[in-house]
Amino acid sequence: MDGTARHHVVVGGSAAGIAAALSMRQHGFQGEVTVVEAGGELPYERPPLSKALTDADPAFAQPIVPESVYAEQRVDLRLGTRVLALEPASRAVVLDDGRTLHADRVLLATGVVPLTLPVPGAGLTGVVTLRDARDARVLAARLRRGGPLVVVGGGFIGLEVAAVAREAGLDVTVAERGALPLEGPLGTVLAQRVTDLHRGAGVRLRTGVSVAAFTGSGEVSGVRLTTGEVLAAATVVVGVGVRPDTSLAERAGVRCDRGVVVDQYCRTSVPWILAAGDVANQPHPLLTARGRIEHWDNAQRQGAVAGAVMAGAPRPHTALPYFYSEQYGMTLQMYGRPCPDDEFVLRRDDPAAADGGFLGFWTRRNTLVAAAGMNRPGDLRAARVLIERRATRRRRQNNIQAALMPSPQVDPRTARVPRAFRTAASSARP
Ligand SMILES: Cc1cc2nc3c(=O)[nH]c(=O)nc-3n(C[C@H](O)[C@H](O)[C@H](O)COP(=O)(O)OP(=O)(O)OC[C@H]3O[C@@H](n4cnc5c(N)ncnc54)[C@H](O)[C@@H]3O)c2cc1C
Repeated sequence: MDGTARHHVVVGGSAAGIAAALSMRQHGFQGEVTVVEAGGELPYERPPLSKALTDADPAFAQPIVPESVYAEQRVDLRLGTRVLALEPASRAVVLDDGRTLHADRVLLATGVVPLTLPVPGAGLTGVVTLRDARDARVLAARLRRGGPLVVVGGGFIGLEVAAVAREAGLDVTVAERGALPLEGPLGTVLAQRVTDLHRGAGVRLRTGVSVAAFTGSGEVSGVRLTTGEVLAAATVVVGVGVRPDTSLAERAGVRCDRGVVVDQYCRTSVPWILAAGDVANQPHPLLTARGRIEHWDNAQRQGAVAGAVMAGAPRPHTALPYFYSEQYGMTLQMYGRPCPDDEFVLRRDDPAAADGGFLGFWTRRNTLVAAAGMNRPGDLRAARVLIERRATRRRRQNNIQAALMPSPQVDPRTARVPRAFRTAASSARP
């Protein structure tokens, strides 16, 4: 496919972009590879940003790979440089340092931008979002001065910040618009478990509320909720979601719809432009709808697929969506993506339950489609294999399902995962 290609450019040097650059080399691409990254730091992992905020000596910019790897792999890393435009007619990549690169293929790995709240006081000092290492340093310095901390939005990042701040002894309140934090991704039963964990640790929770205004003069001092209540705040973390950074793609005429629209090979509507990571809206053989997946593992895997395609060794992205989160020293993990109509089964006789652990499964038409657990890595690895077999072993899956799946009629409030599942799950461990 790419025998004549000589220069591939990656826009965005993070999980997806770096995985793509290295994957090109792994798949034998011999031409030039350039990664253009707007940030000035050696590409780093983002997950530690919300978990190390109160560490004595936080390492906020843990490199994705050591610096020497870029030279070894002949990847030209342009840090502190922003791509301003892609010019389709000439396949030019216009940089903000006045240079222009010619590209045979471009990968858009531009990620997402945190949403802010358009309410009075949003510009006060101390009302912050958390996306990059600079944000993390600012937030860590504020947390060191003490609380109260108000977290607006009970998503993964918000709850991780709440957990570390509470563990450091700060007064913490989480204000969530929905009925429970994380109810969207985890469903009511598991979201309640996570909520209980936070309440048990002393985090105050306000649900079904929005922010009317941030109060203060110069510095934030409070959060006025739509209920009229004012929460005292020395720092406010706004974690209300993100928007995909599609600006370059749109200007280059690439089809965008809640992200950059790609196929399973990360190809966009414009043949020389691909997209991967948080910005990409991709179909998936195991999911009912295409969509963006905002998790580290997915970004790396999509990036690796894009790199292989750019190197002329195309393969589709099929890896099961996976995420993890760490709160109060516990690890929450999930494979797959349930739909609202899926049957949910909570394993009740769980030996890890005494320590706040749990394990839950979702089934659809008697087939395992997703699993989530707290402190249950072994069982989740096994569940992953079973979920993936559904797609890859169509002929044999009926047997697997018959033997392993809980009945779809099971009442989720009282159900146990049948012993057959547990036995087979153990034997399915990779
Ligand atoms: C605080 C935090 C904690 C997280 N914790 C977890 C976790 O525990 N588990 C998990 O699974 N996921 C976690 N994530 C999510 C995970 O980090 C993301 O899914 C992942 O970073 C996405 O990678 P990406 O390469 O697609 O995009 P990003 O990481 O968003 O990187 C995009 C890059 O593109 C650059 N860029 C954008 N436009 C341009 C341009 N025009 N020119 C040059 N460069 C440009 C940006 O500077 C940025 O560096 C966390 C994220 C954050 C912020």
